[in-house]
Parts: sequence; C-alpha cells; structure tokens
Amino acid sequence: MEKLSVVIPCFNEEQTIKPFIKAMMKIEQVMSRELIFEYLFVNDGSSDKTLDVLKSEANSKDNINYLSFSRNFGKESALLAGLEKATGDYITVMDVDLQDPPELLPKMYNKIKEGYDIVGTYRKDRVGEPPIRSFFSKMFYKLINSVSDTKMVEGARDYRLMTRQVVDSVLELKEVNRFSKGLFSWVGYDTTYISFDNRERVAGETSWSFWSLLKYSLEGFINFSEALLNIATASGIISFISSIVGIVFIIIRKLTIGGSVNGWASMVVMMLFIGGIQLLCLGILGKYISKIFLETKKRPSYFIKETNLDD
Ligand code: UDP
Ligand code: MG
Repeated sequence: MEKLSVVIPCFNEEQTIKPFIKAMMKIEQVMSRELIFEYLFVNDGSSDKTLDVLKSEANSKDNINYLSFSRNFGKESALLAGLEKATGDYITVMDVDLQDPPELLPKMYNKIKEGYDIVGTYRKDRVGEPPIRSFFSKMFYKLINSVSDTKMVEGARDYRLMTRQVVDSVLELKEVNRFSKGLFSWVGYDTTYISFDNRERVAGETSWSFWSLLKYSLEGFINFSEALLNIATASGIISFISSIVGIVFIIIRKLTIGGSVNGWASMVVMMLFIGGIQLLCLGILGKYISKIFLETKKRPSYFIKETNLDD
C-alpha cells in the first residue's frame, strides 16, 4: 500500500495538536483502504508544552513522529525539515490549527489520481480576518504577479498534496532564504487548486503580526523578482537625466542673463532629492547583498535537538 506523509509545523500549539490529531484520525479511517498515514510534527522551538504533547501523542500511536528544533527557526525551516524527513509516496503540508481542513484530503487525493502532481488549496474569502490584513495581502499578490515570472495564486495556502517527485524537486532547491509559496510554484509540474471557505483557528493565537507578514512579503519580492532592483536603476536614470537638464539650464542662464546667487533653495532641494535616491538604491542593493551573504555562508536552516525518528 502507498504511504502519505503529513508534515505539520508547530510553534506554540499545545492547545491545537489534540484536536488536529482527532480530526485526522477520522480522515485516516476514510482513506485507510488506499493509504497508510505517517505524521511528522515539527516543533519549531515552542516555549509552551507543545513538545510534551507531541511526545505523549507519539507514544500512544506509532505512526506519529516528531522533530524538535533547538530554537524557533520559522515556519519555512520547519516545512523544509518535515519534507526532508518524509518518506511517503505522497506528501502533504498542513497547519496544526485546523485552518487547513483535513476533510479536503480525500478530494485532493482524487485529483492526484486524476494525474495532477500538485493539488494546492486557496481560501475563497477572508471572513474573520482584519480588513487591513486582507487589503495588503491582495496588494501583495497583485504586485508580485505583475513583476515576477513565478505565478502565485491569491489566497493560496501552504496546504497542498504533492507526489514524491515534486517534493524531491523542491528539496533540490538548496537556497537558504526559502519562500515556499514561490518554490512550490517554481518547480512546475501539473498543478490544480481546490477552494474552501475560510476558517478560524480551533484554539490558540496566530503567531504572525502585521509587521512579520510585511517582512515575509518583502522576502517574496526579493527572492522572486528583480523589480526592486529595477526601481533602483530607474530612479538612478531619472535623477541623472534631470541633473543634466539642470546643468544645461544653469549654463544657458549664465551665458544669457548671467549667474545669480539666488537659487540656494532649489540647490538644496536637488541635493536632497539626489541624495535620497542614492540612499534608497543603496538600501535596495544592500538587501540583495545581505541575501547573497546569507546564501554564501550556507548555514543550515535548522538544528534538530530531539526526535523519535531513527536516522
Ligand atoms: N508556525 C511555525 N513556526 C513559526 C510560526 C508558525 O511552525 O515561527 C506554524 C504554526 O504552528 C502553524 C502554522 O505555522 O501550524 C501557521 O501559523 P499561524 O496559524 O500562526 O499563521 P496564520 O494561519 O495566521 O497565517
Ligand atoms: Mg493559522
């Protein structure tokens, strides 16, 4: 029989693990004629009782496994660790808070049987989410899709079901700065999407603040497009041309009506303008250089402190 690996990143989720496992057991029963399930919970440096809950669950059921990081490395690293350790013929990644409905799995599996390699999911709506957050999310997808060759579906979740082949391809991308939404799309393969109504978390709280999401979306831009570098180049060109125009104007004025001590204000304005653009461009360049710096250091994305998997 074929095996399905379920990868679940957990950060301070002591309250949600039990309801999640309960919901999954039902699905496991529904699908048990076709698939064996394997769970890989990744404890991403939680400061609550997440690890204790995972250990006791792993003791009570032998297809439940956990990896526990030495500190919080972020969801991207947790996903990577889970995908690396997964041994299934099919692999799915899910949030533990039940915002990714387990009931969709049989439907997703049917799509795989139809011949798709990746079955993704997206939310039809964002009911229950702060309007400002929805607004910025929409903006992000509009912008990134207009400047990047890698298409990202609006509202798409990380929740997806993939074949072994897709996961092996994703794992061949060795970059340290990982933006999974982009990576899963970049590898290609036949992809289809299933939509569902937005849900609220069963318990606990989201670990994403407005600022962490903003930083995350900037990450998407820098990793998947050169648009920001183009802005830097364009603003450099514009300020260069306008300064040439300014110089010509000054020379002509000197030759015709003579020089003037007036114009101090316009001088200062121009200096500030050009200086500002230079700083902006330096900042953007710096951002890319810092990414290169991180990549060349080749630091591991995570350290596993404890696990019940044998090597
Ligand atoms: N998560 C993680 N590491 C982090 C932050 C989050 O592993 O640093 C996990 C979290 O436990 C959950 C999933 O990523 O399973 C999504 O997080 P959350 O529900 O907080 O995000 P939201 O659904 O609000 O986007
Ligand atoms: Mg959530």
